[in-house]
Amino acid sequence: MYVTGEFLYPCWFLKLLNRHLILIFRKLFMDLCNGELRHSIEHPYRPREKLFLIFDFTHNFKNIFNQFVNKKQMHPPTKDNEDILGVSCHAKFLHIKTLYALEEGKTLKVAHQLKKVSLNPSSIARTSPQHALSVFSDSTVVGLKHFAEKGHPEFLQTAKYVEFIQTIWNIMSVKSPSKAVRKRNSFFTPLQIGEDHPDVTYLRRAMDIFKNWQKSGCAGLSNETFMACIQTMGAVLSLTEHLQVITQNVEYFLSGKIMSDPIEARFGMYRQSNGGNFLMSVKQLLLAEKKIRCLSLLQRDGLSRAIISCEPGEEDASANHEDFQWLADFTKTVSTNDVDDTDASVVVFVSGYIGRSIFRRRRCDDCRGVLISGFNNVPDINGCIPERYKTIFDMADRGRLAEPTEICFAITLLAVQYFSAVSADEDTLKKLMCCMNQRNVFLNAMRYVVSNTSRFRHLMHVKCKSSHLNFNLIVQSAFNCFAKNHLKRLNAKPMLEEAPKKNFRKIRKLTSKASAKC
Ligand SMILES: [Zn+2]
Repeated sequence: MYVTGEFLYPCWFLKLLNRHLILIFRKLFMDLCNGELRHSIEHPYRPREKLFLIFDFTHNFKNIFNQFVNKKQMHPPTKDNEDILGVSCHAKFLHIKTLYALEEGKTLKVAHQLKKVSLNPSSIARTSPQHALSVFSDSTVVGLKHFAEKGHPEFLQTAKYVEFIQTIWNIMSVKSPSKAVRKRNSFFTPLQIGEDHPDVTYLRRAMDIFKNWQKSGCAGLSNETFMACIQTMGAVLSLTEHLQVITQNVEYFLSGKIMSDPIEARFGMYRQSNGGNFLMSVKQLLLAEKKIRCLSLLQRDGLSRAIISCEPGEEDASANHEDFQWLADFTKTVSTNDVDDTDASVVVFVSGYIGRSIFRRRRCDDCRGVLISGFNNVPDINGCIPERYKTIFDMADRGRLAEPTEICFAITLLAVQYFSAVSADEDTLKKLMCCMNQRNVFLNAMRYVVSNTSRFRHLMHVKCKSSHLNFNLIVQSAFNCFAKNHLKRLNAKPMLEEAPKKNFRKIRKLTSKASAKC
């Protein structure tokens, strides 16, 4: 059994004492264990059953992130763990800030999950795990490793640390038995006791690293966080062993199910189905539960996304009569001869994604050969992308990433070059953003320029055997990626400036008299 603080304390009290929760629970656990902290205790009322003492790992994860932000550096000892942490591991938060600065303003990014607000989170923003997830993410690890090869070798040590924490989080947050297959990452496998199970072995080694780190006195986490992480990892391993070895009727154990996230998510659904009412009655709660159960019975089959049967890009483009000539005049002056290696590496990664998403929507096997490499329907255009452009792709690949064909790569790269030139010119970008349908204006301008440039013209006319043209869909999908990054840039500044205003509702809720009475 796992007792979460949400049920024991009123919400306002919990939020105010968020940082002291570990202290409170340590005292509680110590009392339950008669002074010496253990992973489990005997159940007071049910003989032969156990209570496992676990600190919510989401809170631990947030604490690890917050202390990385505050202390600015982490230095776990690497003795006997060179394969996990490298020969030496001096992780610095400055490296992550530098990574963001290196990519700020770029049309496509390697570390696309990194947000500006996550690098300087406010006190209230730190209570959300979103910022920790944005820093401890796959894309940040790949970004750090990529720039480590491009003149910033010190980034590699930070990459190792970020990867280490992220792997622990992956193991501790598995909520579905099939996640490892979907994500092609063995660390998402549900916990099973066995000599060669990778998750259990990794968790045991992580526990040892944390213990040695705490003893070493090197720059690191606070004693409370060390204790909470070691206790939680140990208790989760004991719980897995208990379920599998002692009860012998459990195949695997989903560690994410014992975190407070599912409980908080359920309470969030109750509140939202009552019109965002924070202080709801028992009757409202029961009605909300009924509503959620009814909704879960509805099938989504009839609402699934329609398969693209015609050429939507063509239709959209011809139906839109917005003036694009001004943008075409600007775009045709753009030089497309110089290609930056980093930009091209990101384009290989993104164009593979675009090719795969178009193929999945169209469900045409012939298009697959035209868009994704490795299918020899169109042998002439495969395998012509230089190997040096595939570095990021190889780093991020766990076996099933789609590699683009040269056609798909070339169209996306052209779109990136044109959009980068547009976003570098403030007036042109402003004019584009003032259009009713920016994507179609950009597409039409690009079609005009490409059809009038002899060396690119063939890109527009590559068809699959079923006569599908993919040029428009590739440009539209690429534009969606550019627009997303541009929007993040636009939002980053106001979010920092208006943080107090944005959190006004939260602050009012935490300090209101009504919440004090709950
Ligand atoms: Zn096709």
